[in-house]
Amino acid sequence: ENRIVYLITPTYVRQTQVVDLTRVGQTLRLAREAGYHHRLYWIILEDATSCTHRVRQLALETGVPFAHMAIQTPLAVKRRPKAHRGLEQRNAGLDIVEQIGKDGVVYFMDDDNAYHIQLFHELAYTTHVSVFGTGLPGGSAYERCHVDERTGKVDKLLTTWEAPRTFAVDMAGFAFATHHLARNRANGKDMRFNHASKSGYLENDLMLFAARTVPELEPLAANCTRILAWHVKTKGNDLYYNPEPNKERFNLYK
Ligand code: UDP
Repeated sequence: ENRIVYLITPTYVRQTQVVDLTRVGQTLRLAREAGYHHRLYWIILEDATSCTHRVRQLALETGVPFAHMAIQTPLAVKRRPKAHRGLEQRNAGLDIVEQIGKDGVVYFMDDDNAYHIQLFHELAYTTHVSVFGTGLPGGSAYERCHVDERTGKVDKLLTTWEAPRTFAVDMAGFAFATHHLARNRANGKDMRFNHASKSGYLENDLMLFAARTVPELEPLAANCTRILAWHVKTKGNDLYYNPEPNKERFNLYK
């Protein structure tokens, strides 16, 4: 296995951006150095009008090949309190994956979560649509897929939020093979996120471009019994005192 694992990461300016990206970046550096047989490719999309030096620097330090682009969320979307966040950026990331056109796996790696390096190794085994557990999603300790011991297939998606979704999976809990992008394109369909998706349905609606039923999902991470990705909400300080006037350098302010 030597497939490319495309990691799509939206990021935006806030007090905790540098600490979050440092954590994610150092995980990637470690994943690369661990020498598993995967090839990581990091796609970083800044929700901004232009790319910043500090994000580029953090990406360079990982040693992982990367693409770095700025795509700003339209103001009209930003103003809508319930609009999906990071959508334009993730879609731009999918554009890049399609343009590169090399076979691999797509994973949406938000900039503020924590990841075990084993995850990147596992992702490379995705040939269709893979699923795995995530720790600390809103309101529970974890959510994960359940595998029928007899058939070895996913039979349930265990989650606390019981909306009638086909795929009750979190953004950090699935990956898909790039051939789905090409196949949808050939059928005249854009496999992209859409603001028309209901709240909480973003993942489900994208996965429906690639799969129809739960049992066809590929369970990773020891049949979904290991958690390799966790939600993290880094708390920013309410900084009001700036010891130095150079805001950009330390990224303390919004
Ligand atoms: N994000 C962004 N622009 C925004 C808000 C969020 O690009 O205005 C990115 C953020 O950096 C993260 C992803 O979108 O990579 C998901 O955002 P967040 O973690 O805040 O969402 P949550 O996981 O809390 O729903």
